[in-house]
Amino acid sequence: MTATTPLKVIIIGGGPIGLTLAQILTSAAIDFLILERRSTVTPEEGAGIAIGPTSFRLYDQLGLLPLMEQISTPIPHKHVLQPDGKVYNSYEFHLRACHGRAMAFLHRLDLVTTLYSTLPDSSKTKIHTGKSLADITLTPTGVTVTCTDGSSYNGTLIIGADGVHSKTRRIMQALSSAPESETLPFETTFQGLFGNVPRLSLPGQEEIEPGHDWECHSGGLSSQFFVGRERGWFIIYRPLPGGSTRERIDYTDEDIKQFAEDVKDMHVTDKLTFGEVFECVNKAGLTQLQEGAVKDRSWKRIALVGDACDKITPNVGLGYNNGVLDVIVLGNLLKRLNESGEQVTEEAVERVFREYQAERKEFSEKVDGAARGVIRTVTHTGWMKYVLDRWINPTLGLDKLYGSKVMGPLMAKQQVLEWLEEKNRIDGTITWAYKGLVITNV
Ligand SMILES: Cc1cc2nc3c(=O)[nH]c(=O)nc-3n(C[C@H](O)[C@H](O)[C@H](O)COP(=O)(O)OP(=O)(O)OC[C@H]3O[C@@H](n4cnc5c(N)ncnc54)[C@H](O)[C@@H]3O)c2cc1C
Repeated sequence: MTATTPLKVIIIGGGPIGLTLAQILTSAAIDFLILERRSTVTPEEGAGIAIGPTSFRLYDQLGLLPLMEQISTPIPHKHVLQPDGKVYNSYEFHLRACHGRAMAFLHRLDLVTTLYSTLPDSSKTKIHTGKSLADITLTPTGVTVTCTDGSSYNGTLIIGADGVHSKTRRIMQALSSAPESETLPFETTFQGLFGNVPRLSLPGQEEIEPGHDWECHSGGLSSQFFVGRERGWFIIYRPLPGGSTRERIDYTDEDIKQFAEDVKDMHVTDKLTFGEVFECVNKAGLTQLQEGAVKDRSWKRIALVGDACDKITPNVGLGYNNGVLDVIVLGNLLKRLNESGEQVTEEAVERVFREYQAERKEFSEKVDGAARGVIRTVTHTGWMKYVLDRWINPTLGLDKLYGSKVMGPLMAKQQVLEWLEEKNRIDGTITWAYKGLVITNV
C-alpha cells in the first residue's frame, strides 16, 4: 500500500553522507532531491577515508562492493613509532578477525565519484549543485526550503547532511528555540594537516608496502600515514596553538606551509620523515578537528545526519562510517513509513526521527568517547597517557582488546538495510545481529 502523500526528502548537502543517502533512497524508491552548495559533488580535497566493515556491508547490499573493493586498499597492519622512527608497537587491527574484513582506505574523491556515478540518471537529475540553503519554512503538510539564489523547493521532510558547520542545524535550532548552550555544539582542541602523495614517488618506494598504517605518537604531536596501492594519505595532529575554541577557524596556504615546516623532522614511517613525504605531496589541507555531538538530532520535520550532528576526530576512522549508519537507520524507517499507507503528518515524521535518534545514540556516544580518548593518548597529553601509550598498550594489547571486546560487539549490533540481501556477507568471530533480507529457498 502506498502512503496517501508519498515522501519527498530534501537532502541538504551532497557530500559523502548525502550521496550515500541518495543511493539508499534510490533503492528504497523514495523520492528525494539534494541541494549542494558547491558547483560539484565530486570536489578534490586531498583526503582519504577509511572504510570499515559496516559500510562495506551497505555497499554489498547496494551492488557497489566490486567497485569499492577496486578503489580501496585493505589496511590490516598498524605500526607505532617514536619521532626518530623507532617502532615500539606493531600489530594487526582487530577488524578482520572480529568482523571478517579489514579497514580499507580510499581516496575521498574516488568515494564520492563512485557514489555519484553509479546513481541512475533519474536520481542524478535530482542533485542540484550551486544551491546553498538559506531558510526553511514548515507548512501544515511539509517543508519549503529556500536557497540563497532565491529558488525554493517543497518536500515532506528535510535531512541536513551539510557537514560540521550545518546551516540546517542552525535553522533547526533557531526554529526550536534550542538553548544557547546547544548552538555551538562542537569544541576544537586539535588541528589536522592532511593530504596525499603518490606512493611510487616516495623515496625508497619499493620498501613502502601497501596495507600499513604507520603512526607516530609523541608529546603534543602525532601522525597517521596510510599506505594504499597508489597513494599514501597522511594526517598530522597537534593541539590548537591558541587553546580550545568553539569558533570556526579558516586556514591559509601559508598556515599549511608553516605547519609542514614545523613537523618536517618527525618520522611518519620507520624510514621516512614527514619532510620527505611532504616533498611529494599532491594536495594538502589544514583543518580544525571539532569534537562533540548535538543533543537533539531532529525537530519536527527536520533531521541531521553525519558530521552535521556528530563530529569525531579522524584517528579512529569512524566519521564517515558512523554517518553511514545514520542513513541506514533512517532509510529503514523512512521506507517503512512510505509503504505503511499512513499520512506523512508532522507527528508521523517526528516519531520516525525519535526512533532514529534512539537507535543511533549508544554507538555514536561510544565512538565519540573512543575518538576523544585516542587523540589525547597518542599526543601524550599528560604522563599517564604517555605511560599508557608507550608501555601498557604495547605490553597488554589494550587497543585490540578495546576494539574486540567493547567496540566490536556494539558494531555487530548496527543495522543493515532490511529490504536488500547481503550476497557477500563475511562473518568474523563476532556475529552480526542484523543480516539484511534473508531469502530462504523452499
Ligand atoms: C583529514 C580527515 C580525514 C578523515 N578520515 C576519515 C576516515 O578515515 N574515516 C572516516 O570514516 N571518516 C574520516 N573523516 C571524517 C569524514 O570525512 C566525515 O565524517 C565525512 O566527510 C562527513 O560527511 P558529511 O557528508 O556528513 O559532511 P561533509 O563531508 O562536510 O559534506 C557536507 C556537504 O554539505 C555541503 N553544504 C554545506 N553547507 C551547505 C548549505 N548551506 N547548503 C547546501 N549544501 C551545503 C558541503 O558543500 C558538502 O558537500 C576524516 C575527516 C578529515 C577532515
